[in-house]
Amino acid sequence: MSRPISVVIHIDALRHNLARLREAARGRTLWAVVKANAYGHGLENAVCGFAEADGLAMLDASEARRARAAGWKKRLLMLEGFFDAADAHELERLGAEPVIHSRWQIELLKSAPHSNLKVHVKINSGMNRLGFMPEEACGVINEIGSIPGVEVLDAVTHFANAERPFGCDSAASVSEQLKRMQSIAATEELCMANSAAGLLQPDVKGNGLRAGIALYGISPLGEVSSQELGLRPAMTLSADIIALRTVCRGEAVGYGSRWVAQRDSRIAVVACGYADGYPRSMPDGAPVWVEGKKAPLAGAVSMDMLTIDVTDVPQARIGSPVELWGEHICVNDLACRCGTIGYELLCAVASRVPVSSD
Ligand SMILES: *Cc1c(COP(=O)(O)O)cnc(C)c1O
Repeated sequence: MSRPISVVIHIDALRHNLARLREAARGRTLWAVVKANAYGHGLENAVCGFAEADGLAMLDASEARRARAAGWKKRLLMLEGFFDAADAHELERLGAEPVIHSRWQIELLKSAPHSNLKVHVKINSGMNRLGFMPEEACGVINEIGSIPGVEVLDAVTHFANAERPFGCDSAASVSEQLKRMQSIAATEELCMANSAAGLLQPDVKGNGLRAGIALYGISPLGEVSSQELGLRPAMTLSADIIALRTVCRGEAVGYGSRWVAQRDSRIAVVACGYADGYPRSMPDGAPVWVEGKKAPLAGAVSMDMLTIDVTDVPQARIGSPVELWGEHICVNDLACRCGTIGYELLCAVASRVPVSSD
């Protein structure tokens, strides 16, 4: 038997979340964002679960090829466009729609012949990563649109603070970014919203919604739960208990002897470590779900194992499955305990963990 750790992807949860985001899209084109191997869920599972989306949004040609090979026939949006000339050609062959964000990409489009390349033009409305400035947008859009074989579909931008209040005190609040997009809105369709904007910002309109995290059932906000937003977590990471021992009060567990037993304690060893994607920075007390109860992490996470205190879970035995995150253990809560966000934990599940679907 192989090591007892697995990720299970719940396709029905992906479908459920897609229907939820379809409501939130209020008629806009719904793009399912599947970068980073569908946020760790497996691109092929996403192609299956998001069959009702209007298109898939991703990063590079290898993902586009995988999506096509998995049977995806609808639209493909390339969030960072192409990375060189060969790439541009390959995207056109795959029928994918690149985002054009930089001057060098325009020059590259001009230097190679195209027959039917549809593109989106990225505007920098305050994120200050990719995109043309709002004042140059109209000129750039006309310039790209006049390249033979190239058609501009819309202008796209991305919010820096979509999970914060509309007019929050930030250099790039949603209201400020919308204001900067106003002049472009007069002549172009706009595709702007991510999950947070789609679910929480009714003032953000446009022709498209690019939803990532919410489609995987995870709230884009730390303080609002998946359930409150009508979302169902689609990934369960679990591993079995492979050893049990009793340690006496005063004994320590694991590297650095971080956790010290305050009472005689029953410790279970679980077959999941930081090399599987469970953060080494997770503090003692972080919950796992075992035999219908929560139990706390006890001791530093090792490369291939972690240890939990099951003194209060007498049913725990060798072979008991332990949910590290999923339906009962919120990945955002865990992420918060170790100073990151749920996105990072989902994406960081290691390739050595087998992924299946139900
Ligand atoms: C990743 C990404 C999204 C999806 O963001 P979520 O917060 O996961 O919904 C949308 N737009 C762009 C440009 C992205 O890079």
